[in-house]
Amino acid sequence: MTMTGEKKRKVICPATGEEIGRMEETPLAKVPLMYEKARQAFPAWAEMPVKKRVEHLRSLRLYMLEHMEELVQVITDSTGKVAVEALTADILTVVDAVQHMEKTAASALAPRRVSTPLLFFGKKSYIEYKPRGVVLVISPWNYPFQLAMIPVVSALAAGNTVILKPSEVTPLVGKWIETLFHESGFPEGVVQVAHGGKELGAGLVERKPDYIFFTGSVRTGKIIQEQAARYLIPTTLELGGKDPMIVFGDAHLERAVKGAVWGGLTNSGQVCMSVERLYVEKPVYDRFVRQLVKEVNRLQQGRGTDDDLGSMTFPGQIDIVREHIEDALARGARLLTGQEPSRWNMDNGMFLEPMVLVDVTPDMKVMREESFGPILPVMPFEGEDEAVRLANDSPYGLNASVWSRDLEKAKRIASRLVSGNVVINDVMITVANPHLPFGGVKESGIGRYHGDVGLQTFCHQTSVMVDPGKSASEVNWFPYRGKYPLFLQLIRSYFGEKKAWWRFIKSYLHLLRK
Ligand code: ADP
Repeated sequence: MTMTGEKKRKVICPATGEEIGRMEETPLAKVPLMYEKARQAFPAWAEMPVKKRVEHLRSLRLYMLEHMEELVQVITDSTGKVAVEALTADILTVVDAVQHMEKTAASALAPRRVSTPLLFFGKKSYIEYKPRGVVLVISPWNYPFQLAMIPVVSALAAGNTVILKPSEVTPLVGKWIETLFHESGFPEGVVQVAHGGKELGAGLVERKPDYIFFTGSVRTGKIIQEQAARYLIPTTLELGGKDPMIVFGDAHLERAVKGAVWGGLTNSGQVCMSVERLYVEKPVYDRFVRQLVKEVNRLQQGRGTDDDLGSMTFPGQIDIVREHIEDALARGARLLTGQEPSRWNMDNGMFLEPMVLVDVTPDMKVMREESFGPILPVMPFEGEDEAVRLANDSPYGLNASVWSRDLEKAKRIASRLVSGNVVINDVMITVANPHLPFGGVKESGIGRYHGDVGLQTFCHQTSVMVDPGKSASEVNWFPYRGKYPLFLQLIRSYFGEKKAWWRFIKSYLHLLRK
């Protein structure tokens, strides 16, 4: 403990085991003050025209570009991922999302005119989007920059003030984000970062933010949702996945193999949308597996800018991967690459060799629960129906991919999958298109972000109807005397199989005279 009561904690690089810094945690006692600051800053930020708010986003983008390599270093040191992945999956996605918001926020958040039914003749209707207030963003360690920044920036663009609690597993990235907002000139109190673990997270939820945006595990998501329900706080939950990849016999096999290797092993498989279940059509199964093994054996693991695979990030995740592999091997699965858990060696950092696993069955943990590690479990299927049944047989529904040269067939399968996202002949990429809403179904989450809806979700919507205010009364107002039969006639003539316009107009005019 320091003199100020803040805890200082050693931060370790998972790829080397070396200390990379010390981190002061935010004391729980500071939480009320943070909310006070966020609430004080809210009115001015909310009233600022969107066009002015996005000027701040522009400064943020330029600061990120100027300090890009420094940020790559912080991310790679904190997570053990390789530099190209820090650059493309963490930084590029954020820069792109920010620029997209700079261009689209004003129109996405502008009042939207909608039509008004004839029954309300003479009136006009529109929807207004207003910021919710103080948004709490809680983010995870696997993409510690992207998964913190995109919700934060979306909430800000929509006019909210934000408290971010980044993952305690990668605290230096959280620190960097705090500096980023400070250095790029955001007004005091508009963005605050709370550094710490789950007690701090729970303490922040307890102080009743106006919205909670959570990315993390299903288990924590449910805890947060329960607490939020008690206060009726609206939430978005971005949770896990067990994403299927379906490879048909007519797919470009070399492409599908390379796609599987990247989709399953990028970020060492610590991705909510990584390929976690591979289903390959029987006639090409053997060939696919042979090529998969060859391709996996080509990968280079390490810390250099030319390396493909980095280390695991969080020690707790290695235990889950071990449990899944041990369960699979005990039930008859075979490893074609990588090592059995008893031979894993973490002396030089938390590196796990990628594992191609065959002879798996749908009941194994590795095919049911999220592994979040470098595993490629493959099993054969026969025909479209079996592929769809296997893919949908999961509590999750985040992303999926379908591989075939027959695009009609691929689209047919895509629309039968119960999933928030589907990619045809590629993996994961929907999340990188800022025009597309992103989110899961089933236990993969609630709500969407990215795209226009990703800004509107941070707003409450006010529906407005306007009457010119020139007539003395309305047909549906008091008195009701004599109106009952006229309304009967009006409803029948207006909503019947064929509109009876003359009878409708007649009853309406009579009502007006009452
Ligand atoms: P992951 O392992 O993917 O990071 P977690 O669900 O464990 O998933 O953590 C995600 C984020 O949620 C982290 O920032 C963590 O500190 C936070 N967190 C964990 N438990 C709670 C809780 N009970 N209340 C609020 N936040 C929590």
